[in-house]
Amino acid sequence: MAGLLAAIRLRERGDEVIVLEKGDEIGGTWRDNRYLGLTCDVPAHAYTYSFAPNPDWSRYFASGSEILDYFRGVTDRFGLRDLIRFGQDVVSTRWIDGGWTAETRSGETYRGDVLIAATGVLHYPRFPEIAGLENFAGDCFHSAQWQDGIDLAGKRVAVIGNGSTGVQLVSALADVAGHVQHFQRSPQWIMPVQDFAWSAEERERFRSDPEAIDAIRYDPEYIANVRRFNDAIIDPGSDAMTLIESFVRDHLETAVTDPELREKLRPDYRAACKRLIYSPSYYEKVQSPNVTVVREGINHVEPAGVRTRDGMLHHSDVLILATGFHADRFVRPLQPVGRAGQSLDQAWERRATAYLAISVPEFPNFFMLNGPTGPVGNFSLIDIAEAQWGYIDQLLDLLRNGSASEISASHAAMDDYEQRRIAAARTTVFASGCSSWYLDAEGVPQCWPWSFDRFFEEMSRPDLGAFDLRNTGGEDQS
Ligand code: NAP
Repeated sequence: MAGLLAAIRLRERGDEVIVLEKGDEIGGTWRDNRYLGLTCDVPAHAYTYSFAPNPDWSRYFASGSEILDYFRGVTDRFGLRDLIRFGQDVVSTRWIDGGWTAETRSGETYRGDVLIAATGVLHYPRFPEIAGLENFAGDCFHSAQWQDGIDLAGKRVAVIGNGSTGVQLVSALADVAGHVQHFQRSPQWIMPVQDFAWSAEERERFRSDPEAIDAIRYDPEYIANVRRFNDAIIDPGSDAMTLIESFVRDHLETAVTDPELREKLRPDYRAACKRLIYSPSYYEKVQSPNVTVVREGINHVEPAGVRTRDGMLHHSDVLILATGFHADRFVRPLQPVGRAGQSLDQAWERRATAYLAISVPEFPNFFMLNGPTGPVGNFSLIDIAEAQWGYIDQLLDLLRNGSASEISASHAAMDDYEQRRIAAARTTVFASGCSSWYLDAEGVPQCWPWSFDRFFEEMSRPDLGAFDLRNTGGEDQS
């Protein structure tokens, strides 16, 4: 998503662009994730490039395959395939002689003045450390490594994990599998949402009247909700948070009728501490007779199934690990080596971070989309990447007009940003006492801890005083 965006925007400005893609098709997370029930919980018309609306979304919340088709369509419509070098897994990038050199696993070398990391966030599957996983007799795989063509009809399927993935997966499996065991280490708060299909007439109207799409994408009520949600995240004592808490509590109380199951599903931490789950059907599906919620801790896996700490063996034919991702990887394991000969691992020894989520000191002309400390939560990452691109593009103008040849955040700006960001992040609801992929190794939420409006304000224009700008001669200009 972010790489295609950068390619479109760079080419519009007349820049020469090469996109290095390790896969043999575009799509990123939507190419790699193909699990049963995959949808995006951001409304489809909002999960769309602002410059490429899609009148053909079939539902309010689109499926993963439909989203992948959308990105394929954009790639073709904008003629991007010629810019993409498929099967080019970048293994090293280094700042050498005033530019970036990238080497790929297949032995090719590319040079550029600028390096954009559009490598995604949730990319490297996290496998749980559960004894005996390798002994399981049936199919066992991570949700992001879906076995295409696997027949789950009538099977006993165990799912470990109940983040957004596990919840979507189990909601769909309930209609397919013979029996679903949903292993939950920590239950989740679930926000109810309505999903619905767009009718043929509505899609026809979207085609003939772009304003009808805008009315959904920029629906003041939707935008106000996004703002309120962010306000709640950054101020857990706010009325907005009280409202969210009452919504999810009421949903649990009213939608789950069996008191024992209700208590099994009741989290002991605040709503939105983990990424809040939006689901139109989880509570309904989890009450199906063929679904069992298992809260007892897992002791180990054995050939026949999952053995919990109470000694019970949960017989299963298939074991699916919906156990999330190494969210702190970002561009890694690829290691850009910057001006000072330092690798990103060294620069990020304590935590992955970047000035305004975009730039790292001593890594000149290296910019990230959806990089560390950017907004997380239930927002459209497309909107965030577009805003970040607007900012990066203004920095690139300094290279285009020759007023600088090397641009990176200054150490002072980076240190000041991190100090303020960490202090604010510690007061967000993400730090209110739960485990989640938002937290870094020190328990600090790796997030944008201020308002949504402030993010877009900051992205509207770079403060050049925060950057170390150098000309080709190496002279410091700020
Ligand atoms: P996740 O939110 O990190 O959830 C991982 C789950 O696995 C948690 O329930 C965790 O339990 C459990 N788990 C991990 N290790 C375990 C172990 N050893 N034993 C038992 N349980 C274990 O991962 P995810 O569900 O894949 O979602 C990641 C992110 O992807 C989401 O937050 C979201 O940003 C994105 N996503 C978005 C959508 C969408 O619709 N937009 C859909 C899917 C995913 P604990 O909570 O106890 O740690």
